[in-house]
Amino acid sequence: MVGQYNAIKDLKKHLTIEEALVHVDFSENYSLKYAEVQSFHFRALYYSTESTYNEHQWSICVDLKMVNFLLGQQSGYTKYPCFICLWDSRAKEDHWKKVVWPARENMTVGASNIINKPLVDRGKNIFSPLHIKLGLMKQFVRALDKDGQCFKYIWVILQNLVNWIFFPGLSMEKIKAGIFSGPQIRQIIKDEQFLYTMTDIEASAWKSFVLVVHNFLGNHKSPNYEEIVQKMLSDFKTLKANMSLQHRFLMH
Ligand SMILES: [Zn+2]
Repeated sequence: MVGQYNAIKDLKKHLTIEEALVHVDFSENYSLKYAEVQSFHFRALYYSTESTYNEHQWSICVDLKMVNFLLGQQSGYTKYPCFICLWDSRAKEDHWKKVVWPARENMTVGASNIINKPLVDRGKNIFSPLHIKLGLMKQFVRALDKDGQCFKYIWVILQNLVNWIFFPGLSMEKIKAGIFSGPQIRQIIKDEQFLYTMTDIEASAWKSFVLVVHNFLGNHKSPNYEEIVQKMLSDFKTLKANMSLQHRFLMH
């Protein structure tokens, strides 16, 4: 992960006038009326990307869905969503116990949820810290008791958030599903009362999530970031949160 951020920083710093950094995002925050639109779009994109990419050999900064797509992985909730290892996303009882999973040796079409020839080199993917943050937030909120104070208070914060420019149409369904935008998460982190609505277990997980955001996912990387990330993983385990692919990436 650290390599990822350094790579993107470095790219931005050394861009020449003829180069561009392409940031691609199929965010869940943009809902589509017809799911097929997205897959249709992906198919068209696959072919156009193949030719363009081969020509330019870009490094790409993408969200996890795009990583999946560009590497030819099957979309949706698959058994092996990680492109680095063969983490079994369905073996939930092993998730927080088993740290080391077999490495994914190659990206062979037909094996372990690879359905297309990868379009880009695995080493050329860069995830943005925002997407890691969104994924961690999602699992935190999903693990909350929906009748509890903490969850109810999130709704209050978001309703009080005046600036709807970034996120029109607040919906309880999205919040229950743990789908937030960057500005919403910032607002929740800023709220001084939020911690007081939590149980001890929720508070530990939240505090360590915020520490990871400030000491690892932002511009500043603390020297003890590994410790901070480990603490968060262990707190999410205690919270009985599901492990997301983002958590998994933090372990690599
Ligand atoms: Zn992995």
